[in-house]
Amino acid sequence: MAFNHLRPGQHDALRGISTGLMTDLLPMKPPPDPPATVLDRLTEARGRQDRLTHSEHLPARPARYANWPGDLRPEVVSAIEVTGIAQPWTHQAEAASLALNGQNVVIATGTASGKSLAYLAPVLSALLDGTEAPNGRGATCLYLSPTKALAADQIRRLGELRRAGGGTLDRVRPAAYDGDTPFQEREWVRQYASLVLTNPDMLHRGILPAHTRWASFLRALRFVVIDECHTYRGVFGSHVAQVLRRLRRLCARYGSEPVFLLASATSADPGRSAGRLTGLPVTEVTEDGSPRGETVFALWEPPLTELHGEQGAPVRRSATAEAADLLADLVLDRTRTVAFVRSRRGAELVSVIAQERLAEAAGPATARRVAAYRGGYLPEERRALERALHSGQLLGLAATSALELGVDVAGLDAVLLAGYPGTRASLWQQAGRAGRSGQGALAILIARDDPLDTYLVHHPDSLFRQPVESTVLDPDNPHVLAPHLCAAAAELPLTDPDLDLFGPSTALLLPQLESRGMLRKRAGGYFWTRRERAADAIDIRGSGGPPIRIVEADTGRLLGTVDTASAHTSVHTGAVHLHQGKTYLVRELDLEAAVALVEEADPPYSTVARDTTAITVLSTDSEVKWGEARLCFGSVEVTNQVVSFLRRRLITGEVLGETRLDLPPRTLRTRAVWWCVTDEQLDAAGLLPEELPGAAHAAEHASIGLLPLFATCDRWDIGGVSTPLHPDTGLPTVFVYDGHPGGAGFAERGYQRAREWLGATLDAITACECERGCPSCIQSPKCGNGNDPLDKAGSIRLLRLLLADTGVAAAAPTAPSA
Ligand SMILES: [Zn+2]
Ligand SMILES: [Zn+2]
Repeated sequence: MAFNHLRPGQHDALRGISTGLMTDLLPMKPPPDPPATVLDRLTEARGRQDRLTHSEHLPARPARYANWPGDLRPEVVSAIEVTGIAQPWTHQAEAASLALNGQNVVIATGTASGKSLAYLAPVLSALLDGTEAPNGRGATCLYLSPTKALAADQIRRLGELRRAGGGTLDRVRPAAYDGDTPFQEREWVRQYASLVLTNPDMLHRGILPAHTRWASFLRALRFVVIDECHTYRGVFGSHVAQVLRRLRRLCARYGSEPVFLLASATSADPGRSAGRLTGLPVTEVTEDGSPRGETVFALWEPPLTELHGEQGAPVRRSATAEAADLLADLVLDRTRTVAFVRSRRGAELVSVIAQERLAEAAGPATARRVAAYRGGYLPEERRALERALHSGQLLGLAATSALELGVDVAGLDAVLLAGYPGTRASLWQQAGRAGRSGQGALAILIARDDPLDTYLVHHPDSLFRQPVESTVLDPDNPHVLAPHLCAAAAELPLTDPDLDLFGPSTALLLPQLESRGMLRKRAGGYFWTRRERAADAIDIRGSGGPPIRIVEADTGRLLGTVDTASAHTSVHTGAVHLHQGKTYLVRELDLEAAVALVEEADPPYSTVARDTTAITVLSTDSEVKWGEARLCFGSVEVTNQVVSFLRRRLITGEVLGETRLDLPPRTLRTRAVWWCVTDEQLDAAGLLPEELPGAAHAAEHASIGLLPLFATCDRWDIGGVSTPLHPDTGLPTVFVYDGHPGGAGFAERGYQRAREWLGATLDAITACECERGCPSCIQSPKCGNGNDPLDKAGSIRLLRLLLADTGVAAAAPTAPSA
């Protein structure tokens, strides 16, 4: 990201400063204590050794340098030198060289490894080449980022490089083009900008449908930069993949064939993911040449409390409360720390609790050295915050992951993660915020009370000895592809050569779209002849269907949308709904008007919907036998009805009451992975018929909790159904399905990695220290049945017999620890 490298040996002074370049030098501060010493003071000195489940020592790594490729223009090299970088790191030089050779490339290296510079250098060089072409507009570049804030940061960085160029780079004309660009400026951008910074939404809705007005820009397009490309996953990623195919088709029409440059957090198989996203072969650059200081990574489990939750289960202290305590202790220890918390509300809670503790321990002046970062700040405010952190005026910050793409806080002494951030990629990205180069850094992952977090803090190998997960997306999903074919036909009639570009399902879908009256077939191909704009019907961040609008009841202000699929569970009447980190109470969900009327509120409880679900197998596409047991993948129809909701007290999780709801059933056609065992197997394992429902239900919950370890999904992206006798299989069956129409690739990934996935599930349940099941193993916060029935011992026996012939179960512990 940052231009934070100097001549060899000078890195240390500047590491972590990407924003100010020359202006914002870090004041010299005595080196912090080694991270292991800081960790000792948090544990032994305070009698908390039992909470530390593991500490991993990651040694320092020196920087490796290379030379810029010879064909990089000298103006660009010298501008970069003026900013203080005499030599690039190896991965930067390699990526730049591939890009200048016209190869699509994805750079997947760590946080603060200067990925921006790796693609900006060849882009600037190419843009300068172009402007010397006679009577041409000159080469152009399109930069896509998932957020406007990131694009704004890039514009600022480009400005700094241009200033460093002292006039030699002035012919590069960058401009943002997004929803905030005034209409009077848009024409200038279309005609004259050479580097347009935008987002996939604007490309989809604003640029592609109006491509004739962008003709000269598209004709000259040399590079498409896709920043933070790992964020394009699941359904959103599948949509963006199709938007990029539409872009490539229009470019081909205008005679250009841009090179794609992608930047990603470290992920497994980045070349393959980038290839799926762009539809092109992509070379990967993964050998990180940037230096890293010594890091101690601690895994931390909060203690059990006296409280009891659903079905009388023991409840652990919350990760939020634990993070607040650790933040206060680290600030008292003069350790600059950021705590990453999931919601804005949680971040505020952490900062308030930490401030109270500090005020008690050291007075109000110390309490003021902790703040919350809530996202949505103006650039100047973010810069002020960065300065306060860099100068040490601010010692502690509680932030949502919005910060991941907003403020540059690299170079801290410690990072706390209140709960696993969902993927190893995000884990390393957040942990990478700690550590001024050459000096130590401490990262602590604090487990939330759920199966995945609990599994991870007890299985350090799954964090430290596994590659990061690959980015899952499925551009062939017909629910995603069909509307993009309409949008593409509206841009230019679809013809035979387009079949290859949009993938194998296209030939099947086009006649269907014709018979539904969406497209018309004529001699020149398939045409869009309807009056409305085809692109307007697609919500690329949703999952199909018209979204439900969230409207503030008193002001009529539109706060955002939720997709229809999740509206019944997330914004039913009476629901407490988190939106962009703020808490709202839903006054009324009006399905006919597709509106949820809400008010900002601060109730002392959260809500959880209760539902009933039935599932039908439409087709079995693939199947494997594990002895007598079967594992299948295919298409299903899920019928779900939200019937009531519970109110649960914050922090303790205690149930305050249940309210009935009157909502219609909904059906979802999607993809699922499922497994069945036979009655003979159950008999042989001594699993009684009355134990089966609880055993299957428990195995289902835990497996949903563990799937994010193998696919880049959230447990909220997937659902499950378990039954002792399913009509379609005739057997006891457990289903796990994608919660998006047509699927999103998660269930498929579960099918591909089923041995490891279900083996880890068995392992997680077996290792949990509870007696009869708890949120750390088999209970689910989203269970539609209030976590009833659940049978922990039964689920262990059931999973063991399922895995008996795979060789996985043998490796799992043989006796429950409780
Ligand atoms: Zn448990
Ligand atoms: Zn359940």
